[in-house]
Amino acid sequence: MVNLNYEYTQHLIGTTVSLMLFEPNETAVQAVFQTIKMLEDKLTVNRSSSEVMSINLAAGHHPVIVSRSVFSLIEQAQKISLYFNSCFNFAIGPLVKLWKIGFNGYQVPSAKLIREKLLLIDPKNIELDANTYSVFLRKPGMEIDLGAIAKGYIADVVKSILHQHQVYKGIINLGGNVLTLGSSLTDGNGYWHIGLRKPFSTNGKLSGIIKVKDKSVVTSGIYERFFIQNYRLYHHLLNPQTGYPLNNELESVTIISDSSLEGDIYSTIFYGWGVDKSRQYLQKHQNLSAIFLLKNKTAILVNPDNFIFQQIDTQYQIKTD
Ligand code: FAD
Ligand code: MG
Repeated sequence: MVNLNYEYTQHLIGTTVSLMLFEPNETAVQAVFQTIKMLEDKLTVNRSSSEVMSINLAAGHHPVIVSRSVFSLIEQAQKISLYFNSCFNFAIGPLVKLWKIGFNGYQVPSAKLIREKLLLIDPKNIELDANTYSVFLRKPGMEIDLGAIAKGYIADVVKSILHQHQVYKGIINLGGNVLTLGSSLTDGNGYWHIGLRKPFSTNGKLSGIIKVKDKSVVTSGIYERFFIQNYRLYHHLLNPQTGYPLNNELESVTIISDSSLEGDIYSTIFYGWGVDKSRQYLQKHQNLSAIFLLKNKTAILVNPDNFIFQQIDTQYQIKTD
């Protein structure tokens, strides 16, 4: 039996990044962590300077030329935001910064401040010029936030770096974004076993195990970045129409897909849509699968041909579409 013995971890992009391999490969590992640091330096909005911060700081003043990779991610984020505007919006930055959920200084803002920030989050007010790779936020105070998409993008880049170093088997974990490479050598059938957290469990309990081969598994949930005030829970997935956290039947959405970028995009969109609307979409997109964990302790599996779900927590009632 071959074991997944080689684990490399670093604290980056606000989470624990880990890489698990069957064989040691210092060169590949170094290239991976260097690239993640380089991408974090370009994409972060949690420090005073980065390419995205240069765009945000120039809002209302002038366009900013960025690197090709950042431009291309922004271009995709804008397309998705224009198409799925009711729940996915990469111009949501002013509201994310106002609430500060998951960061020091989190607060329930006044309704007046929320109304003011809602005027600054129209993705149509972001001008992209594909000839010069420049980005212009038309109104002062506008801010791009790629938090819902960047980890997926980075995970896919890491996979391509590992391939360049002839590493075709392993697991990349960017805190909620898990990407499995090839098939596993530890399971007789080649499946990777990915734990699905039971939302709000205090000691890291699992609701189940997701078994996949060569797939991405991305979860968006409300149990990692949240706070409670006056018996109400406020989490980090915001409704771009109201400016408040989305409020529905879900505790988490997990997407099983080929690319992690796709998984990141749809985990956020489906959280916003809720089960019924997401299900209709998934019926027409059989290459995407989803696991919805509901507040009433139902687990709904949609398009289950792409994975196996092994239930661990018997509190859940499992429904399969
Ligand atoms: P997802 O569900 O994938 O996305 C939620 C995030 O998207 C929210 O946190 C918000 O940023 C944004 N968002 C909220 N509502 C919407 C919406 N309706 N449409 C679109 N986007 C929305 N965390 C730290 O604590 N410290 C750090 O220094 C730090 N640095 C980071 C640097 C980078 C480059 C990246 C990519 C992330 C960093 N993070 C950091 C984490 C980041 O702040 C987010 O919390 C994280 O990306 C959310 O990922 P998720 O998978 O939990 O949620
Ligand atoms: Mg996402």
